[in-house]
Amino acid sequence: MERNDLCWCGSGKKYKKCHMQIDDKLLLLAAKGEIVPDRSMLKTPAQIEEIKKSAELNTAVLDYVAANIKAGMSTAQIDNLVYTYTTEHGGIPAPLGYEGFPKSVCTSINNEVCHGIPDENIILQEGDIINVDVSTILNGYFSDASRMFCIGQVSERAKKLVQVTKECVELGLKEAKPWNHLGDIAYAINSHAQANGYSVVEDIGGHGIGLEFHEDPFVSYVTPKGSEMVLVPGMMFTIEPMINEGSPDFFVDEDNGWTVYTEDNGLSAQIEYMVLITENGAEVLTK
Ligand SMILES: [Zn+2]
Repeated sequence: MERNDLCWCGSGKKYKKCHMQIDDKLLLLAAKGEIVPDRSMLKTPAQIEEIKKSAELNTAVLDYVAANIKAGMSTAQIDNLVYTYTTEHGGIPAPLGYEGFPKSVCTSINNEVCHGIPDENIILQEGDIINVDVSTILNGYFSDASRMFCIGQVSERAKKLVQVTKECVELGLKEAKPWNHLGDIAYAINSHAQANGYSVVEDIGGHGIGLEFHEDPFVSYVTPKGSEMVLVPGMMFTIEPMINEGSPDFFVDEDNGWTVYTEDNGLSAQIEYMVLITENGAEVLTK
């Protein structure tokens, strides 16, 4: 690509005024052995515009759940809220049928780490903490975020875990900026979790997103500072650590093949933001 050509990203700007500097810097970093994103991981301005619409709907779905979730409700009713709101607004719940997942949302209560399946026999009880993970497809573009909900009065122990999980995500977000590394986000999260006596789940992590539900890179929250992929404007991925009050070990439900539980039966919390790396930091697209 020549300096005066129109940039490959479709911005309509000349290459020298758009991605040339970034491309040159990435070549140098790659030569030094750094892991750098390839162009397919950098969303174009046109893609970003469409993905933001999907993310707005995703946030609206979570707001709708927030307004209606309460003790006595089954997780199947949460699933129904998500399916109905999403489809009435022109979207498709991304989890529905994804690799055989049977429902429109993941609902993970207390000792469930993630991928809980909504069920009419699972009734929310006062004192439960629940993660509701909503992912939306709108006009072919993907978005993804999750929140923790405390049902009625919850124990101090549960409240603190949820609070620290929120702090972990916010601290991770501060590290999400150009030329930092994914490992900087992980380090901020893992050290805050550990400082509070908690652990961060390994092997299950975040992911790139936007054109597909799960894209590269895989995002770990336990890797060292300065490690993993370099962050560049246009990258989109999730910050979604799973924080356990006890050991990070987990197991997967043998019957349904999905639900992940803490090995020690301790509580687990997760909060997920979907972020876009911008020129000077990160923009949260849905949370
Ligand atoms: Zn460009």
